[in-house]
Amino acid sequence: MISRGHEMTRFRWQQANGRRHAYDTGTTAIPHPGVVFTALCGKEVTPRERDFVELSGCCYAPTCWRCDHEWRVRDGFPPEEIPPLPENA
Ligand SMILES: [Zn+2]
Repeated sequence: MISRGHEMTRFRWQQANGRRHAYDTGTTAIPHPGVVFTALCGKEVTPRERDFVELSGCCYAPTCWRCDHEWRVRDGFPPEEIPPLPENA
């Protein structure tokens, strides 16, 4: 595994609406319970208290593969590290 300095990434994961979505910290405010935000996949989602580990929620929702895909594309991953979207994404 080669480190490419992903600690500089501007993207973060946030569970909401039963999926683990990602958002862009450059254009999206830090998510708060009950506040709508636009995920990388383009969906408008609303996280609830149970979606925040800090608020004794749990984050076991399945990954939103469209967000994962967008993240990799925007973060400049090489093509071989950008898998095609699963059919059920
Ligand atoms: Zn998403």
